[in-house]
Amino acid sequence: MTLDSKIPSGPLSGKWDSYRFDMKLINPSNKRKYHVLVVGTGLAGASAAASLAELGYGVDAFFYQDSARRAHSIAAQGGINAAKNYPNDGDSIYRLFYDTIKGGDFRSREANVYRLAQVSNNIIDQCVAQGVPFAREYGGYLDNRSFGGAQVSRTFYARGQTGQQLLLGAYSALMRQAGQGTVTLHPRTEMLDIVMIDGHARGIVTRDLVTGKIQSWAGDAVVLATGGYTNVFFLSTNAIACNVTASYRAYKRGAAFANPCYTQIHPTCIPVSGDHQSKLTLMSESLRNDGRIWVPKNKGETRPPNQIPEEDRDYYLERKYPSFGNLTPRDISSRNAKMVCDEGRGVGASGYGVNLDFRDSIKRLGKHVIQERYGNLFEMYERITDENPYEVPMRIYPAAHYAMGGLWVDYNLMSTIPGLHILGEANFSDHGANRLGASALMQGLADGYFIIPYTIGNYFATAKQPKITTDHPEFRKVEAEVGERTKKLLGLNGKRTVASIHRELGNILWEGCGMARNAAGLKKALERIPGLREEFWQNAIVTGEGEGLNIALERAGRVGDFLEFAELLCYDALERNESCGGHFREEYQTPEGEAKRDDENYAHVSAWEYTGVGNTPILHKEPLVFENVKLQTRSYK
Ligand SMILES: Cc1cc2nc3c(=O)[nH]c(=O)nc-3n(C[C@H](O)[C@H](O)[C@H](O)COP(=O)(O)OP(=O)(O)OC[C@H]3O[C@@H](n4cnc5c(N)ncnc54)[C@H](O)[C@@H]3O)c2cc1C
Repeated sequence: MTLDSKIPSGPLSGKWDSYRFDMKLINPSNKRKYHVLVVGTGLAGASAAASLAELGYGVDAFFYQDSARRAHSIAAQGGINAAKNYPNDGDSIYRLFYDTIKGGDFRSREANVYRLAQVSNNIIDQCVAQGVPFAREYGGYLDNRSFGGAQVSRTFYARGQTGQQLLLGAYSALMRQAGQGTVTLHPRTEMLDIVMIDGHARGIVTRDLVTGKIQSWAGDAVVLATGGYTNVFFLSTNAIACNVTASYRAYKRGAAFANPCYTQIHPTCIPVSGDHQSKLTLMSESLRNDGRIWVPKNKGETRPPNQIPEEDRDYYLERKYPSFGNLTPRDISSRNAKMVCDEGRGVGASGYGVNLDFRDSIKRLGKHVIQERYGNLFEMYERITDENPYEVPMRIYPAAHYAMGGLWVDYNLMSTIPGLHILGEANFSDHGANRLGASALMQGLADGYFIIPYTIGNYFATAKQPKITTDHPEFRKVEAEVGERTKKLLGLNGKRTVASIHRELGNILWEGCGMARNAAGLKKALERIPGLREEFWQNAIVTGEGEGLNIALERAGRVGDFLEFAELLCYDALERNESCGGHFREEYQTPEGEAKRDDENYAHVSAWEYTGVGNTPILHKEPLVFENVKLQTRSYK
């Protein structure tokens, strides 16, 4: 396996322009001859499918929900970044680039991140043209708010439902193409494998989730935009169905998996309340614009929060990081919440919670302003906790949220399998070891609207693959393998539910590879995971049949993949003997408890090659070269 990132030469600011000029083009009438299989219709997949079809390519789009509109992107609350500098507060493309590189703790590629910052402004224009109702100021300009890791306000938002509004925009573009017959939609269809012919990705095998039919699809390229895998932790902020299956099957066929241990633990989620839960709820980072985070100064404090006077409160982020205060990046905010709770100063019944308090901003701005900004989030919080956050502080705690790791891609967003392109959260590309808030939506839409439409044409023009159909014997072979696995899952007739095994896996990972990791804990997790996998195949129960809707079967397939993938995640965390961003190895920290990087030995992307279930994967390294920014210790003080 070779990792050729294909980063263009030349000055940073001109790389994307000159690369686009150097790319080979496909003329409009020839585009009709190419067919693309897009898996996933979240922001990344829907924007890609719509844009590719608009260009003239034939597109099939697959997703497991009943409507493309229900992809997990719909859950995104807080906003989307862009370097428009509307507030005139000092933003620029270079600043967005720099903040993102620094926010990711210098573990991402300069060229990719700069391109992301460049196209960020086009995304806003595109979405406004589609009618996305971004919040506006009194004068009519688009409004901005602040997110962590930046000292400028560059986040565009639509109340607390930005993802939904952006997805409606992308969905409209997609449905326009579907109406014109250039995109064929395949709802409630799960991709279960990819098909390789002569070393290229030439198709996929799917299962119809309603009829159970296993079917093959051929194309000239495959695009996976299948989202993140954080549900490997069982409890996360992701929708329950989010999974690693598509990426993991591609990994098994030869796509390198990059930085799987870089998981984002989001600082502001509603704390775990007991064993009954199957998911956690995010409270958007945007709340940290106006909410202040604190815990009692003293252990064992029993007074209700509103009766704790100012001098007995510790606004620990404002105290430790005065420049960024409550808007320090997520990894730092999360770690600090854990620290104060570990000291015994946490709030709530479990002691694992901190206050997010709006008292001062309500006093300063009035309740109506806070209501206007965050009304739906406050309502959601009250419905879940039965507490009124206008009157008592919200209680929050970090939770698994986002996968910075993903399938390795080059500058074209192509994986190590020629023809297999990966977009959105499913790839590893731009966020390094920690993603800044409001940058996932930006990256997903950048990939779909503005990058893949160029790079896929270059692939077609240069790869020159022969036409194939699903009659090719390789499709029969992969279909048989998928059928065999489905049969094996349906044959599971033990005593444990799949959910209980998944929960146990989540506990193993949270303990061994969560917010803080160390070699001993990771080794222990690596010892426990194969045993749990064995338990799954020996003692899990999967009810129902294959020839129809069977949610138990769907879940079991996804958990089966998590049980293999979890090991990869721990290998990666164990091998990376440094702390960076969300990957905090307790052995590598400064005396103040900050992450201590090892640039000499770890300034690289770790890309793993599959070697078989239970075998140690092979590590490949893509060195990260910094020509424009100086590697330095992150400081938000
Ligand atoms: C609660 C929450 C709030 C967030 N808020 C923000 C925010 O304010 N700003 C921000 O920038 N980011 C935010 N994020 C992150 C952001 O929402 C996601 O990273 C982003 O939307 C992912 O988009 P995507 O298109 O890559 O994947 P998704 O939207 O997850 O879409 C995945 C698609 O793939 C399909 N799929 C997956 N596997 C298969 C398969 N095997 N076969 C067929 N189809 C498959 C699904 O059906 C779906 O269509 C938030 C995340 C969460 C969880």
